Amino acid sequence: MAICLTQEQIEQIYQHGCVSYPFECCGIILGSINCETSESEKIAVELIPTENVWNAENAVIFGENEENSPRRRYAIAPQVMLNVQKNARDRSLDIIGIYHSHPDYPAIPSEFDRRYAWSGYSYIIVAITNSDVNFYQSPMKICRQSNQKIVHSSSLLPTPYSLFSREESGVFPHTIDIHSWCLDDNQQFQSEQIIIGG
Ligand SMILES: [Zn+2]
Repeated sequence: MAICLTQEQIEQIYQHGCVSYPFECCGIILGSINCETSESEKIAVELIPTENVWNAENAVIFGENEENSPRRRYAIAPQVMLNVQKNARDRSLDIIGIYHSHPDYPAIPSEFDRRYAWSGYSYIIVAITNSDVNFYQSPMKICRQSNQKIVHSSSLLPTPYSLFSREESGVFPHTIDIHSWCLDDNQQFQSEQIIIGG
């Protein structure tokens, strides 16, 4: 399985992540599943940015600490999900995934993300920082070239190199990584390829 997005959609996720920093952003990915190819693909048609409604109430339920702040959690209001789903069906589309950001944290799903994930959905995570420090090395290897552009060097992540080559470093919130994940039959996240289409 792979998920196909346009460059504009990728940019939209980057932007949403950056303007929401230092909090997590989230949004719904509408699209369809193309089963014609041997490896079926999810095709993103539209991204619906949603409010991160993770709030004090949730923090109390889950235990209030830094890990449970909107810097580390996201939630989409159930009513919003329902409305978007209904709207999508009217247009013969489906919810095919959710995107969210990880401020100052690698683009890998947390245990919380896993526990609340739905089978079949793609979970696109974008890592955002406003730090110039290369704060994580592993399991993702990000290296800097002499021209200060951030380059992906990990074979773990199949996303095309070109996705990262134009990111700039600096003190403003910026994207350092993007990755998609999907639950397997054992409810564990597996890496999913992001294909950039027209
Ligand atoms: Zn997360």
